[in-house]
Amino acid sequence: MKHAPRPNPYRDHWCGHLTAPLAGTEARVSGWVHRRRDHGGLIFIDLRDRSGLVQLVFHPDTSGAAFAQAEQLRSEHVVSAYGEVVVREEGNQNPNMVTGRIELAVTRMDVLSRSETPPFPIDEETPGLDETLRLKHRALDLRRERMQETMVLRHRIIKAMRDVLDQQDFLEIETPILTRATPEGARDFLVPSRLQPGNWYALPQSPQLFKQLLMMAGYERYFQIARCFRDEDLRGFRQPEFTQLDLEMSFVEEEDVIGVMEEVMEAVFALGDFPAPPPPWRRMGYDEALLRFGSDKPDTRFGLEITELSGALAGSEFKVFQSVLDSGGVVRGLNAGAHEMSRKELDGLQDVAKRAGGKALAYAFVEEGGAWRSPIAKFFSEEQLAAANAALEASPGDLLFFSSDKAAVAANVLGSLRLELAERFGLVPEGEHDVLWIVDWPMFEETDAGELTAIHHPFTAPTGSFDEPRALRSRAYDLVLDGTEIGGGSIRIHTPEVQQQVFDVLGLKAEEAQERFGFLLDAMRYGAPPHGGIAMGIDRIVAILSGRDSIRDVIAFPKTASGGDPLTGAPAPVEAETLRELGVVSVVEPSAG
Ligand code: ASP
Repeated sequence: MKHAPRPNPYRDHWCGHLTAPLAGTEARVSGWVHRRRDHGGLIFIDLRDRSGLVQLVFHPDTSGAAFAQAEQLRSEHVVSAYGEVVVREEGNQNPNMVTGRIELAVTRMDVLSRSETPPFPIDEETPGLDETLRLKHRALDLRRERMQETMVLRHRIIKAMRDVLDQQDFLEIETPILTRATPEGARDFLVPSRLQPGNWYALPQSPQLFKQLLMMAGYERYFQIARCFRDEDLRGFRQPEFTQLDLEMSFVEEEDVIGVMEEVMEAVFALGDFPAPPPPWRRMGYDEALLRFGSDKPDTRFGLEITELSGALAGSEFKVFQSVLDSGGVVRGLNAGAHEMSRKELDGLQDVAKRAGGKALAYAFVEEGGAWRSPIAKFFSEEQLAAANAALEASPGDLLFFSSDKAAVAANVLGSLRLELAERFGLVPEGEHDVLWIVDWPMFEETDAGELTAIHHPFTAPTGSFDEPRALRSRAYDLVLDGTEIGGGSIRIHTPEVQQQVFDVLGLKAEEAQERFGFLLDAMRYGAPPHGGIAMGIDRIVAILSGRDSIRDVIAFPKTASGGDPLTGAPAPVEAETLRELGVVSVVEPSAG
């Protein structure tokens, strides 16, 4: 707390600000009963407000009516207490508390409200506390120290972002929440229009199109702490609504956007006391990231790199590898190091491979002399084994894994295996962090149905020739922290012709493109500056900086993994009459949440 409160009948000091220099003065504080202790005739209360804790002491002789009141106090009752700040007796001082040298000898107290017994303790972290219970009673959960610290950190991070960008002449401009679809690759949340029955708003998956319009409008530098909505399956690092630092700049190339974001993020890391290496952060091409780490968000804090073995193991008797190689696939491997693993453990890793879209995962233990102890060893010549060992830098005792598949699948399989092994072997050094940019992305990727989709979004500027759309690259960049994508952006297309070329590749005819994105294409026809931008996932950043596994712990009022909110009961059924007004007919009975 930076400012003392205006003295009023509730308080004239923050609890956490009562320290020894105030001894001998009178003070009034307000807050929640954090803890209560009865000590042979004395009652001690730790009183809590946002600034911290202070100890109240009640004497039977000097506290008057307040003593009897204190006997009735329970955890989380809300009180206002008045008394003298006194230095605690020698042995009673608590050096671990900011206010630990003093206590407030209470002479008057008002009990402002009472609390029922809370469903979980507020004054301690309770490991394994049921998350639904926490979310249902979020007002109580948010009282807990760790949650408060996280919310404070979140505020500071957002403020640091605003400060750095304000210094750099960025304008904070809001964009609509009720809008049209923005293609970021997820499903839209839709809102029916009452005034135009049969028509729907979409909630923005990002402010992408609006920030581009702002560049076309000449605003040069825009940012927003933007809420985005994506209807997708949820995991720890995903929420249906989340917050991005969204920005866009005109007349820029990659270096400009990256430079600004490095400044912003350096300020953010400094704030969280987060020991990330200082910028400039290194760049790694997408292809290299996939080849070496099997991921476009590589965790580079540990080795276990992937090795290309297609050459070394070509022409073997092992049909599984050979048929993949014959059909244009790859064989890649990973040296897990000197680790024994039971059959059961090895079988367990097959599931990792399968979840990553692969078939079987082959393995081998390297023996003295370089031979392999493995069901597949017999299919390879000595030369092939030697070549593979050399490529994998294998020594006797090492455990090797192999995946053969289409390049993208093999990368994913070994990339997932790499993360799993790092976890099992405890390879991520405690307290170590790494930040890097992934650059030089392909523009498109193929869906399972064989169609092309934009890897970032269709407004990303491509490089290369449209004669070979599959070979097009894009001017995109992602920022990766400790194996998590924390942000991404690109230089954009700024002419309607190129934009339509991209739409053509995506199978979006000119009329359809005009229908969906006409407002953007029209603005582009009236002189669009070259522009580019980026968006950073604020929830993820706060989670990593505060050491949380889930972004639910850094959002004041999040949803569960099934998209529900145990606090409000959202999503909830609505009256048939309301639906009728909106021109909507529901064909399903509401499900139980
Ligand atoms: N709109 C993009 C996203 O939300 C970020 C960007 O390209 O600036 O991922």
